[in-house]
Amino acid sequence: MQPQDIHSLSTQNALPFYRPVGHECTVFEMAYRQRLPLLVKGPTGCGKTRFIAHMAARLDRNLHTVSCHDDLTAADLTGRYLLKGGETAWMDGPLTRAVREGSICYLDEVVEARKDVTVVLHPLTDDRRILPLERTGEILHAPDTFMLVISYNPGYQNILKSLKPSTRQRFISLSFDFPPPEIETGIIACESGLPEEQCVPLVNLARQLRELKEVDLEEVVSTRLLVYCAILIKNGLPPCQAAETALVEPLCDDQDVKQGLLELVRATY
Ligand code: ADP
Repeated sequence: MQPQDIHSLSTQNALPFYRPVGHECTVFEMAYRQRLPLLVKGPTGCGKTRFIAHMAARLDRNLHTVSCHDDLTAADLTGRYLLKGGETAWMDGPLTRAVREGSICYLDEVVEARKDVTVVLHPLTDDRRILPLERTGEILHAPDTFMLVISYNPGYQNILKSLKPSTRQRFISLSFDFPPPEIETGIIACESGLPEEQCVPLVNLARQLRELKEVDLEEVVSTRLLVYCAILIKNGLPPCQAAETALVEPLCDDQDVKQGLLELVRATY
């Protein structure tokens, strides 16, 4: 795994901005206090990562985030022996580090990872709360402040890549979706600095684009893309061009589909 796949967010940082949509902050805090693992489901770019970063900072915990991919193995999470100056030394992986420190470990898109990952997660997600490290012979007991959070996007998983029921059942779960229009407008305004009244048409356009059932798109316009679009508008790009660059091009390559989406853009601006 490349080092950039993993980042730790020091809680010395300012509280990341997060606007709650429902009771998700209460549930997260309760899960943390009661030592329950949490699964967050939802489409790409709807605020899952931001929510977790926000909650980690609110609870004053370090956050170890791992973006899972199809080459990610259990050893990438737990650690491995590495050669250092001619000698082999054990290097903790992000999950082990989080357990030792009593931090929050967030495995983003966990279904992408290799199957052996679930083997290390299981004993951490029941009342044992242990992480056995076969290679070092250690059995780590997770402190009360350790929390495991995983996420996945149910929208584009194929059947081979969904979480096994025996794994899902170990987590309490929150379902995320794009925020309702008034909240999404506020988020975009806050994130981009574009005045709210200029964010309203953008959110209306997003709603229309998301409702296009007949168009075969793998993903729909995310809150993240709306923020990018608003940033372009704020910096002087004409809204029509901003929407083409930030909302249409990232979603499709097919010329006919693009023309259809652009018609909606032109009808708005
Ligand atoms: P995900 O992890 O679901 O793919 P992110 O958490 O990275 O998505 O969200 C993408 C962007 O959308 C964030 O960087 C942030 O700008 C914005 N965002 C989405 N939802 C919220 C929210 N409720 N409060 C604040 N920002 C949000």
